[in-house]
Amino acid sequence: MNIAVTAHDSKKELMVQFCIAYCGILSRHNLCGTGTTAKMVSEATGLEIVGFLSGRQGGDQQVAARIACNEIDLLLFFRDPLTVKPNDIDEAQLLRLCDVHNIPVATNIATAEALIHALERGDLDWRNIVNPKTTGNIR
Ligand code: PGA
Repeated sequence: MNIAVTAHDSKKELMVQFCIAYCGILSRHNLCGTGTTAKMVSEATGLEIVGFLSGRQGGDQQVAARIACNEIDLLLFFRDPLTVKPNDIDEAQLLRLCDVHNIPVATNIATAEALIHALERGDLDWRNIVNPKTTGNIR
């Protein structure tokens, strides 16, 4: 499966901790993410992860483009709902595209935990049936 990770600044450390905790599961999938989040996760876990541009430079849109092409099977997007950000419209677009393509998305760690266990159990295997092409690499 192709898994994308991104996190707002105040949630990046939480994303790192989450990826450390589930490193074993994540290592069996293709990972990508916005630049800063991807770098932090990669450095902390040793996981191979394709880093796009930073969010501010368009990394969010690179993830969105892959979602639009149905190339992402799971999005982990740890949002900070308490801080107003300049790219809120991009966020809405990212989530909208997940809904367009029925892509499982977690916007907080509680849902991410549920989805990662679902992934491990095989609950998301239907993505391979609907989109056999998504099992390839994301680059
Ligand atoms: P980043 O992008 O991982 O490059 O910081 C996400 C964001 O801008 O919130």
